[in-house]
Amino acid sequence: MTDSNEILIKNGNVVFENDVLKTDVLIKNGVISKFGNIESETANIIDAEGDYVFPGFIDMHTHLDDFIGKYYLADTYSTASEIALENGITTLFNFITQKKGNTLIHELELALEKLESRRIALAEQNQDLCNIAFHLTPVTFTDEDWNDIEYLISIGFKTFKFYTTYKFAGIYSSYERIEEILTRLKEYDVTTLIHCEDNDLIESIDTEKHDLTKAFTHTLLRPSEAEITAVKKILSLAEKTGAKIHIVHVSTKEAAELIYEYRKSYDNVTCETCPQYLFLDSEKLKTPGGHRFICSPPLRSPDNRIAMSELARKSYFNVFATDHCAFQQKDKDSFSADIRDVPNGLAGLGALPGLIFNLYGDLNNEIIVDISKRISTNPALITGLYPMKGTIMEDSDADIVILNFNGEKDIVSSHSFCYETYMGMKTKMNIKYTLLKGKIVFEGKNRT
Ligand SMILES: [Zn+2]
Repeated sequence: MTDSNEILIKNGNVVFENDVLKTDVLIKNGVISKFGNIESETANIIDAEGDYVFPGFIDMHTHLDDFIGKYYLADTYSTASEIALENGITTLFNFITQKKGNTLIHELELALEKLESRRIALAEQNQDLCNIAFHLTPVTFTDEDWNDIEYLISIGFKTFKFYTTYKFAGIYSSYERIEEILTRLKEYDVTTLIHCEDNDLIESIDTEKHDLTKAFTHTLLRPSEAEITAVKKILSLAEKTGAKIHIVHVSTKEAAELIYEYRKSYDNVTCETCPQYLFLDSEKLKTPGGHRFICSPPLRSPDNRIAMSELARKSYFNVFATDHCAFQQKDKDSFSADIRDVPNGLAGLGALPGLIFNLYGDLNNEIIVDISKRISTNPALITGLYPMKGTIMEDSDADIVILNFNGEKDIVSSHSFCYETYMGMKTKMNIKYTLLKGKIVFEGKNRT
């Protein structure tokens, strides 16, 4: 290859927002420069005959490089970046949560310092970090806190996240509090992400009536009704305030239908679901080692999983994201008799595109465009990155993934070194190249 700043992707099937078209793509200085039948003597050429050229995928929901309770998450920014780029994911969103006694800005500074040190360490090995951005969770709301929030919005932060549960972790917000927040945030061009599980309903469950040694009990302690109740309440607040809301990790058919109905009349709510609610179910919790599949919201019934997959194919979910929250197996295993001590969360990052392509059976251009919307364009629109990310158009960042569906035997790998969430599942997706701002950062082994 030459060392010019130009890459020419020849003969690929380019996935635009409304259609798949066979055209060449010229990249100059990290951005998409033009389309058409292009010849160049200076550009590095990538032959994409028979391949699809997608905008880089975006996982807008991951938990990385931080403590959750007493356990440090299994993935750092670096390890997550590696598995992301191998799977065509060029942008990750992670969370910064204010800790009581600290300001949100202080937490942000700590995270940015950590991110920078990971970037430097990787650069020494000639490796790149994918794009990593943040959603912010304030937990106190004094005038000073609001000044900080307004400052963070002014420097470009577009997404905040709140929880209707997790009182013990200090991140719970009451519906009254959420209404106040939505009313204030509506003044700005920002989106509020909400974790919907009704705290009162969860706390009203008599734990003494349940066998707390069994992993399956987790599904009884955080039942479907908790999600459905919270989603109803949040939709009523969405209607009342008009604020932009994104409901994260929808896990039940009923909640998905409520949101879909709401969206027939209003456009201020979007939602996501995650591969674990489409490919796994609560039977998994009854198997040996089932506690390793404890996450919140919990895996639901097999019937719910089938219904959710059908709704996913009918475009009920604006976004597919993973809620990647990987713990080391030893940390998952370290509880003694009470499953409430198992850290909640599953690895899923690397599995996202491979599994989503599997969801649809035979692929055609219409389906391919629809998938691209849900794992690239819509996440970029909701988080404010569009049109720099999430689309293939002139002047957008050249975050691009070139792939085909000749993989067949490739095993889904959600994580680089943890136990596998999607054990034995295979994907047709075969990544040939991942480009980050016009630089090839991953080349697949079986490229042709
Ligand atoms: Zn999460």
